[in-house]
Amino acid sequence: MRASDLLHPRPEGLYCPPGDFFIDPVRPVERALITHGHSDHARPGHRSVLATRETLDIMALRYGEDFAGTTQAARLGERMMLNGVAVTFHAAGHVLGSAQIAVEHQAMRIVASGDYKRQPDATCAPFIVVPCDVFITEATFGLPVFRHPPDHHEIGLLLKSVAQFPERSHLVGAYALGKAQRVMKLLRQAGYDRPIHIHGALAKISAYYQSTGIDLGELLPATVESGGKADFAGAVVIGPPAAFSDRWARRFPDPVACFASGWMRIRQRARQRGVELPLIISDHCDWDELTATIRETGASQVWVTHGREEALVRWCELQGIAARPLHLVGYEDEGD
Ligand SMILES: [Zn+2]
Repeated sequence: MRASDLLHPRPEGLYCPPGDFFIDPVRPVERALITHGHSDHARPGHRSVLATRETLDIMALRYGEDFAGTTQAARLGERMMLNGVAVTFHAAGHVLGSAQIAVEHQAMRIVASGDYKRQPDATCAPFIVVPCDVFITEATFGLPVFRHPPDHHEIGLLLKSVAQFPERSHLVGAYALGKAQRVMKLLRQAGYDRPIHIHGALAKISAYYQSTGIDLGELLPATVESGGKADFAGAVVIGPPAAFSDRWARRFPDPVACFASGWMRIRQRARQRGVELPLIISDHCDWDELTATIRETGASQVWVTHGREEALVRWCELQGIAARPLHLVGYEDEGD
């Protein structure tokens, strides 16, 4: 069988005809397999959803308990049969609960990796390399200019600034699912033991992370009710990037605007957003990690989705690996 008979793009998302299921569909479908809880991959309204326990819990937190007709939890590494097609979820190292999905049928294995990263992250299970015939990779940072420094280096910059400006607060923009908790954990790993103040939009998901045994230390709400401006002098405050342009941000004393994102590699982006301290911390692979991972899977074919598809396709071709862009629509890398 040809690989495209086993999985191919449809307007709803990536579809498996023999298994009759979609992976990360962007429109409501009968049966959805979901790689992780970011809103561009995990949408409400499917009749049935198969995902890891953590992804199902995160979807319930975000959309309410009735986000799907029925749900089934997939255990990492457990092979399941769907209409004669074997399906196995493997850790993707992107955010808590994130998984790659290996689809096997008639001696053909395709791995849909969803979003993934290779840097160690104490808030989720590490990516594992799954040998396959076809590897479907994202390309969010699929240009050689993207090289992510070690995350502890970036957190070191933040802590240095906190020590240097004890009268100012540090506002760290970080996506609500994954990045925010990773920044908290990195601060703890670097020895920062003061309370971390968080925007209300992070409260439920951060509490969920803690409930699964990921210790993020003491988290306090960053609300006016909880104190005056002076109380936030020297504080680290984490919130979703969108909150930083509204009134919420103005309650803090002389804030240092920080943003934790792979896009902070581009200085112009940081300037445009008014970011004083850019922190290059990404939940996606950089260029070297993308190309290394493609090699390690041993795939003879690579399909490239959301991001800088053309550059990675070209790189594959130069390596003698057949490659093509998938042109899936509707993925906006919520957690970059
Ligand atoms: Zn994601």
